[in-house]
Amino acid sequence: MEKIWQEAAAMQEELVSRRRDLHKHPESAWTEFRTASMVASTLEELGYEVLCGSEVVQAEAMMGVPDEEVLAKAMQRALAEGADPRWVEKMRGGKTGVVGIMKFARPGKVVGMRFDMDSNEVDETNEATHRPASEGFRSVHAGLMHACGHDGHVTVGLGVAGMLARHKDEMCGVLKIIFQPGEEGVRGARAMVASGIVDDVDYFLSGHIGFNANRDNMLACMTDGFLATTKLDAHFKGKSSHAGAAPEEGRNALLAAAAASIALHSISRHGKGVSRINVGVLDAGTGRNVLPDRAVIKLETRGGNTEVNEFMVSEAKRMLKASADLYNVEVAIDEVGGAPSCSLDEEMGREVYDLATASGKFAEVVPKVNLGASEDCSYFMERVQQQGGKAVYMMFGSVLKAGHHNSAFDFNEDCLPKSVAFLTVLARHFAAK
Ligand SMILES: [Zn+2]
Ligand SMILES: [Zn+2]
Repeated sequence: MEKIWQEAAAMQEELVSRRRDLHKHPESAWTEFRTASMVASTLEELGYEVLCGSEVVQAEAMMGVPDEEVLAKAMQRALAEGADPRWVEKMRGGKTGVVGIMKFARPGKVVGMRFDMDSNEVDETNEATHRPASEGFRSVHAGLMHACGHDGHVTVGLGVAGMLARHKDEMCGVLKIIFQPGEEGVRGARAMVASGIVDDVDYFLSGHIGFNANRDNMLACMTDGFLATTKLDAHFKGKSSHAGAAPEEGRNALLAAAAASIALHSISRHGKGVSRINVGVLDAGTGRNVLPDRAVIKLETRGGNTEVNEFMVSEAKRMLKASADLYNVEVAIDEVGGAPSCSLDEEMGREVYDLATASGKFAEVVPKVNLGASEDCSYFMERVQQQGGKAVYMMFGSVLKAGHHNSAFDFNEDCLPKSVAFLTVLARHFAAK
């Protein structure tokens, strides 16, 4: 095992340079054409069977996909920045998921690992104290930034893929390394799960850099408290008219949206778990003297479990429709993102804890932390568990320069080789069970 840790430590420079290249070229949900092509090419070079596009992303289950024009521009940008056209073509329509599969000679279990690839819609700071700015790897895509650490996740995923390919003679079973688009806004996992890609997975591993593991050299073995969530856009359509001469001829979409916003925040709490609702955007009307014929609100619900969230969603839809009726306008509701809650596999988590402790490589090994947010990895975990497999979600420790999604977010790159080594150890352990 010591060999694995040494080899990963020797990869520091390679990992840092890959992370910095990804950091410089962030791509948001469903537009990860450059990132995903690079992932596919690297996996192919390493000898993996590579699946992408429609093979691993089911079009009907994609949520919150940008419009054609945005996708076309992102494809062009990726090609201009060196993406392999062969892969980009297969990913048309935003189907930027990639899976690398390797079957080993010795029998064993199917191990799945998932890494998310997308950036945030954040303008990266230019402050000299921000290392990406001072060391020349700040985002070159205006309005986009890797502010969550997914540049690190892709880097770690490819690092693990390399390690296990080099050590394939010592491996058992089957390895599936999954690179997911669109985690932000919880949009991508459902479509990959719907493709059936994790249906045969016995042991599933995933995780995140930072969050509650916000100290260097720390590892959290299990994560609890995944909130189920649903993201809805409601489009109200009324009729415009002269606000002075003929207000009675109009139908007011702005008032319907405003009434809905108030009503939504008064949905009853639920006895079976915590719940959340937030109307984050209300945009309406066209001009001061025009009766507003259009309005849109963007909202999200969350629940401590899937049942509570489903209650929130059905109440939210009822209130949106009732508010539209109240003002005699129409409403169209789009589901643009979502994730279920999920439960832990304590037994598997305990093995992760024992291996982490036995390695002696972490200053701090924490059995369990609470996420208190949503992560659509829960779709993968839920499906694996439904099929009889086990899943854990870890957190890889790093001091953070600023919180996730902040324009000054940055993590300590020393967590990259550590994560590569430990995930390699875990993959070997669980495949051999
Ligand atoms: Zn995030
Ligand atoms: Zn994230």
